[in-house]
Amino acid sequence: MYDYDFFVIGAGSGGVRASRMASTYGAKVGLCEDYRVGGTCVIRGCVPKKLFVYASEFSGHFKDSGGFGWQQAEHGFDWPTLKANKDKEISRLEGLYGNTLDSHKVEVIKARGKLLDAHTIELKSEDGTRTVTADKVLIATGAWPSMPNLPGIEHAISSNEAFELETLPKRITVVGGGYIAVEFAGIFNGLGADTSLLYRGEEILRGFDLEIRSKLREEMIKKGVDVRINTNVTGIRKEGDEFILKLTDGNEMVTDLVMYATGRTANTSNIGLEELGVKMKQNGEIIVDEYYKSNVENIFAVGDVTGGMQLTPIAIKEGAALTATQFNDSPTFVNYDHIPTAIFSQPPIGTVGLSEEDAQEKYGDDLKVFRSEYKSMKYTLAGRDERSLIKMLVDGKTDKVIGAHMIGPDSAEIIQGIAIALKCGATKAQFDDTVAVHPSSAEEFVLMK
Ligand code: NDP
Repeated sequence: MYDYDFFVIGAGSGGVRASRMASTYGAKVGLCEDYRVGGTCVIRGCVPKKLFVYASEFSGHFKDSGGFGWQQAEHGFDWPTLKANKDKEISRLEGLYGNTLDSHKVEVIKARGKLLDAHTIELKSEDGTRTVTADKVLIATGAWPSMPNLPGIEHAISSNEAFELETLPKRITVVGGGYIAVEFAGIFNGLGADTSLLYRGEEILRGFDLEIRSKLREEMIKKGVDVRINTNVTGIRKEGDEFILKLTDGNEMVTDLVMYATGRTANTSNIGLEELGVKMKQNGEIIVDEYYKSNVENIFAVGDVTGGMQLTPIAIKEGAALTATQFNDSPTFVNYDHIPTAIFSQPPIGTVGLSEEDAQEKYGDDLKVFRSEYKSMKYTLAGRDERSLIKMLVDGKTDKVIGAHMIGPDSAEIIQGIAIALKCGATKAQFDDTVAVHPSSAEEFVLMK
């Protein structure tokens, strides 16, 4: 009766996983995307960001190598080479995503999708406009950088444009204190730009463990980033090739590029949701139940478009759970406990479970805090002035580990394994009973007294 059993709008992490899983379960699936297959994560998010982080870390590695006997040479950095190689890699990955969808018999349509009614989707592309029908529809349109409305904001770029810069400006100012702001400040600084980070609050990375947040700011400053807290921008003006930022403290600062990383809002406008009466929060995020169903019986949503933790693995898990529920007769929902996350700042942060502040509120006097601050072995010979910090939070009553946080080299890699232990309900005694991997940073997690 319908053209498709399942039609997905948006080929990002959630949409791609859901469409290919639904097809595996026997559904006839269509997927539309008006930009590139892969979505934010692959095209202008996690993947190119991590490539840029790797690139920017070399300046530190080159310096470190002197202490290990490597003769120091001049190392020039060429942004166009990095950008071209990044573009090539992203195109390769986009191709792989396309191949996977093809091999799973998902029909990919390059068009912008809009709901005309609960079962009809308008598809608009350069080739014209047509409509298709579907039994069930998934909105997986993700989120988009949002910027405050202030005079001259049109001069600012977002992370989207940062990936496409033709040259690397000499002075760069990043506004915001979240994931994207600290990650990009580290990238620009490592690549040699004079980098400033302006954050409106008391401490960057609101919501994370306070000690870890302060440690990051301290280390970023040591690396040369001009981090200014309690500072915001009230206006931007362009003078020649420069931008003048008017700051809340009354001062002005001059820069060559302003990048805003002040959050991302759900992509829900102009896709027919209001007309259909799909319930959304005030900020446009689609309201769904635990099976990702909206208030309209056959319309579903997963990933950033529903708010929550805007993380790729979450969107993927939600897409998989939704399709198992709808097409495999096995109601599945995602357990949002113990979600690990990494911030690819420099140094990087890995974290899972409660921050000390949240744990204190929940467990009060029962909370036990274990911490270890140390210099990474590699940095002793390197002569690098950087220290790592590991924290473990334990419920004294049950001995269960309720939070683990790390800032230092390899923390993203290490926290993944720790997250499994927390998910299994590991106790501090079990951590202590685990034999250390020596010499490593990870062993600190089993040696904390
Ligand atoms: P975040 O929500 O992490 O941070 C937004 C930052 O902007 C906060 O510091 C916030 O301050 C500040 N801010 C908000 N509004 C204003 C304003 N009007 N003026 C000045 N500052 C403002 O958003 P991001 O854009 O950094 O990232 C979006 C999401 O993408 C993240 O939440 C994360 O889920 C995801 N992401 C994940 C990554 C990873 O897993 N490594 C990497 C990159 C992104 P305040 O704290 O005071 O509200």
